[in-house]
Amino acid sequence: MTALGDLLIARIARTGPISLADYMADCLMHPQHGYYATRDPFGAAGDFTTAPEISQMFGELIGLSLAQAWIDQGQPEQITLAELGPGRGTLMADALRATQAVPRFHDAVSVHLVETSLTLRAAQAELIPQATWHDSVATLPDAPLFLIANEFFDALPIRQFMREGNGWREKMVGVTDNALSFGLSAPAPIALLEDRLQDTKDGDLVEHCPALPVIVTSVSAKIAAYGGCALIIDYGDWQSLGDTLQALKSQDHVDPLASPGEADLTAHVDFAAIAAHAGPAKFSRLTPQGVFLERLGITQRAQSLAAKLTGDALTSHIAAHRRLTHPGEMGDLLKVIGIYPPGANPPPGLEP
Ligand code: SAH
Repeated sequence: MTALGDLLIARIARTGPISLADYMADCLMHPQHGYYATRDPFGAAGDFTTAPEISQMFGELIGLSLAQAWIDQGQPEQITLAELGPGRGTLMADALRATQAVPRFHDAVSVHLVETSLTLRAAQAELIPQATWHDSVATLPDAPLFLIANEFFDALPIRQFMREGNGWREKMVGVTDNALSFGLSAPAPIALLEDRLQDTKDGDLVEHCPALPVIVTSVSAKIAAYGGCALIIDYGDWQSLGDTLQALKSQDHVDPLASPGEADLTAHVDFAAIAAHAGPAKFSRLTPQGVFLERLGITQRAQSLAAKLTGDALTSHIAAHRRLTHPGEMGDLLKVIGIYPPGANPPPGLEP
C-alpha cells in the first residue's frame, strides 16, 4: 500500500467509510501525497497525455477562437484570459503565441490560471511568467472573462449512487481485511438526484460532481455580467450513466483502490450538469472535439506546418492531427461546450 493508502486506512478505521469524492480528493490533491501535488504526470514518460501535449495546433486554434470571440464582442479593453487546471501551461503558451498577431488583443489581456498543485504552478510559471494564480474561480477578476478548461472537470472528485427503489445507496470507500474496499451505504432519498429518477431504473449507477455547480455558476455569472466566453473540453457526454471512474498509471488502467496518490483518477463529465448551471449565460450545442477543430481550420493549419517537416517529425505530426480529430480517437471521445453571454454568438467552432 502507498503512504497515502496507509493514512486512509487508519482514518477509516477511526471514523468510518468515506465517500468516493473524499477518496478522490485526497488521492489527487492531498498536499503531501496527492497525485497532482507530487508530480508532473504528462507526456510520453508520464501517466497520460492531453491534446495540448500532443500538438501545438490545439492551443493555437483555441487561442484564435477566443481572440475572435473578443473581436465579435467589440474588443473590450481589459479582459481576463483564464485557464482552469493548465497542467504544464502548454495550451496557454500556444494560445498566447498564436494570438500575438491579433491587433490590440495582447494589450487587453491579463492571464489568470486556476491551479491547486504547487508542482504544476512552478511548471506553468516557466512558460507564462506574467500569469496570476488562483486557488479557485471565486477570485477571478470582475471583468470580461475568456476561459478555457481542457480536461479539468474530469479531474474533479465525484460521488456515485446506485438506485434502489426511489432512494440511492452511495458508493463508499471502507476497509476490509486491512485493505481499501468499496461498499454501499444504506438506501436513502437524495434531493440532488430527484431529476435522475426519471431516466434511471433500479440498480442503475449515477455520478454527481459536487464541485461542478459551484465552478460553472461562478464562471457563467461573470460571463453574463461582463462578457466573454468559456470553452470546456472533456471526456464525457450529455447526462452520464454508469460507472466512469478510471485509474491510470503509466498509461495502463489499474484498480482505483490499489495505489492511492500514485494513479490518476478521472470520471467522465456530465455536460448536462454544466448546461444546467450556465444560466443566466447561454450554452452552445455539445460538439465533438474533431468537429470543433475542423471548423477552426485544423486541417489547413496542419498542412501549413507539414510543409516545413520531413521524416519522423512529419510522420508524428500527421499522427497527432489524426489523434486529435479522428472519430474513435480524441475526435469524438472528447466533447466541447461553450458558455457565452445572452445576445452574443457562441465562440467560433460552436453552434447555439
Ligand atoms: N489542462 C491541462 C491539464 C489537465 S490535468 C492539459 O490539457 O494538459 C488536470 C489539471 O487540473 C492539473 O493541472 C491539475 O493540477 C488541475 N486541478 C485538478 N483539480 C483541481 C482543482 N480542484 N482546482 C484547480 N486545479 C485543479
